[in-house]
Amino acid sequence: MPRVIDIHTHVFPHYADLAVAAMDRSGIELSVVLAWHDGFGEGLQRHIDAFAKYPGRFITFGNVDYSRINEPDFGKTAAAQMERDYAAGMRGLKVFKALGLGYRRPDGRYWRPSDSELDPIWAKAGELGIPVLIHSADPPNFWEPVNEFNFWNGVLYGEYAWWTYYNTGQPSANELLGDRIEMVARHRGTTFIFPHCAEKADSLDCAAEDLDAHPNIVYDFSARVPELARSARRAAHTREFFTAYADRIFFGTDVIFDDTNVPTGQQAQILYQPGEIPLNGADPRERYIETTAAFNISNIEFITSSKVQISPPFKRSIAPFEIYGLGLPEDIAAKILHQNAVRLLGL
Ligand SMILES: [Zn+2]
Repeated sequence: MPRVIDIHTHVFPHYADLAVAAMDRSGIELSVVLAWHDGFGEGLQRHIDAFAKYPGRFITFGNVDYSRINEPDFGKTAAAQMERDYAAGMRGLKVFKALGLGYRRPDGRYWRPSDSELDPIWAKAGELGIPVLIHSADPPNFWEPVNEFNFWNGVLYGEYAWWTYYNTGQPSANELLGDRIEMVARHRGTTFIFPHCAEKADSLDCAAEDLDAHPNIVYDFSARVPELARSARRAAHTREFFTAYADRIFFGTDVIFDDTNVPTGQQAQILYQPGEIPLNGADPRERYIETTAAFNISNIEFITSSKVQISPPFKRSIAPFEIYGLGLPEDIAAKILHQNAVRLLGL
C-alpha cells in the first residue's frame, strides 16, 4: 500500500473518530482538515483539541472571520487573528468560494479575492510560512444551463440546486479565476493551493500555463476525478500533465464528515440527494465509514492503478460514466500521494 496524505478534507471535530476509522480502512495516514467557516479563535481551538487525541493523523487549516468582512480594517484585524491562531496550532488557511460568489459589500458588489483590503491576510500567511488553500469559482458546467448536455446534470438539482450560477448574475468563472491569479501574482512570498485542479480540469493546458507563470501555486485534484479521467483521452492528457508537474500536484479527496450526511450513512462528497439511498436498517455510522473508505480508495486507485472503474463513487451526469485509472509509475505517484505534502507542510 502506498503512503497517502489527504490534503483536502472537512471533518467536524465531533466526528474525528469516524474520520480515523475511514482513514484506517483506506490507508490514509494523515488528513489536512479544512475548518468549516469557524476555524478561528474558539472554533479553531475546538478543532485542535478534538484532533490532538490522534497524534500524527490530522493537521488543521483555519479560516478568517468573514462575518466581519465589511468592518473597517477587516484585513488587518483578520491578519492579527491569524497570528493568534497560528500560535494555537493552525497550519494553513482555507478560503471558501463564498469569497467571490457570496460575500457582498453594503452597496451590493461582490467581494473578490484581489480586493486590496484583503492583502494583509495573504501577506500574513506568507510571513507565518503557512499555505493558503483558496477555492475560487467552480467547474465551468455550473454556469451552463442544467440540461442533458451538462456533465453535472446528475447533481445540480434539489439539495445542490444552489450550485448553479446560470443566469443568476453572479460573477463568471473566468472573472473569478483571473481575479485569483491577479491576487496570487501580488503575493509571491505566499504559497497558494488551488483546490479542484484550479477549476481547470477541463482545460489542462491553461492549468499548466498558470503553474509555469506562478511558482507560488500548487494544485489539489480533489472532487475532480471524473473531469480528469472519464474518458481514455482525458486520462491520457491528465497522465501527461500529472507527470510533467508531479512536484506540484497534491492528493486530496474533499471528504466531508458533517451533521447533514453522517445520519444518512452516505459520504457527502459522493453527492447523493438526502434519502436517495435508503439505509434499510444499516448502522449509519458503519455505512458512513464504508462509503467514505470506498470513496477514498477510488481516489487513490485513480492515481496508482490503470484499471477502469465502472460505476465509480461519484455522482455527476445522469448518464453513466467510467474512470480510467492513470496507473502512474511509483515514483510519480509517491510525490502526488505524500511526498509533496510532506515538503509543503514541513512534516
Ligand atoms: Zn472542500
